[in-house]
Amino acid sequence: MSAPIVFSGIQPTGRKHLGNYIGAILQYVEGQDRGDPAIFCIVDLHAISVTYDPAELRERLYDTTAILLAAGLDPERCIFFRQSDVREHSELTWLLSAVTSHGDLNRMTQFKDKSAKQELVSAALFFYPVLMASDVLAYKATEVPVGDDQRQHVELMREIARRFNGRFGETLVVPKLVVPEVGARIMDLQEPEQKMSTTVGTEAGTVYVLDELAAIRKKLGSAVTDSGREVVRREDKPGVTNLIDVLAVARGADPAEIEREFDGVGYGDFKKAVAESVVEMLAPVQGHYAELRPDQAALEEALAVGAEKARAIAAPTLAEVRERMGVGAR
Ligand code: ATP
Ligand code: MG
Repeated sequence: MSAPIVFSGIQPTGRKHLGNYIGAILQYVEGQDRGDPAIFCIVDLHAISVTYDPAELRERLYDTTAILLAAGLDPERCIFFRQSDVREHSELTWLLSAVTSHGDLNRMTQFKDKSAKQELVSAALFFYPVLMASDVLAYKATEVPVGDDQRQHVELMREIARRFNGRFGETLVVPKLVVPEVGARIMDLQEPEQKMSTTVGTEAGTVYVLDELAAIRKKLGSAVTDSGREVVRREDKPGVTNLIDVLAVARGADPAEIEREFDGVGYGDFKKAVAESVVEMLAPVQGHYAELRPDQAALEEALAVGAEKARAIAAPTLAEVRERMGVGAR
């Protein structure tokens, strides 16, 4: 069996949270040797789909770049770049919009959730899934490691690839969704019925990778549980279930082991244990981050090298797509 081509993107919101870390970043770090190539992209063009400040976007882009490197992404072992540096993504978005159904875009729950919070509901927010499809399809990726919230978008990009191939001939690869077994959907600590999120979450319920360690302890210590006493995963215990998953990932253990270990232990002590493990997991990342973040030139250099490698793959795909679609000179 040949190695998978792995592709995933992450928004440069800078304040990446525990959900991003567990659902996405840990998978990237693990996947960089499995993929041939493994491609990871900071998707600044996605970030402009909601209200933002241009100067801040640049700063947050460097923050995110440094977080990913600090977490263990190694530009020697993967292709790591900034989306807007590879213009093929944008052009492919337009071309693929011709085989994207408006009705499908209308059904996207992320669009509904995010647009509810925006003063201007941009067309970019509506088009987000087409750009995301282009990100992945430009590289003929076979695997897309993401969190569970991206299931619908990956299903749509599969449909776009199939429709393109059906209409214009076998060209694009239909990629497979890959979500982590545990931690694919980390929930907000204060509102455990909704996912931890950058755009729609609560501040007290969101642990950021770069939060002060004291703040991490405080947020996890005040996480909502329930009125019961048992440390078990159950549908009516979303808060406790979420914390069990977090602890399992932070320790590299099985959730069932965590349940056994904390059988009969009170919620207070359980939450302390979760907090300590998360602190242990994130403290080294923060240490590396502090070393890497100040050298913006080095971050730019890493991204530039990545963009060159990315373009070398995306450009031929785009040429093929144009040719198949009858666009441009032969
Ligand atoms: P936004 O809410 O603005 O979309 P986000 O928090 O989802 O921001 P992204 O950069 O869009 O951040 O997501 C990066 C990756 O993190 C994606 O693969 C996404 O599926 C994953 N992810 C996001 N939130 C969670 C979560 N709560 N649990 C697990 N994975 C998540
Ligand atoms: Mg998101």
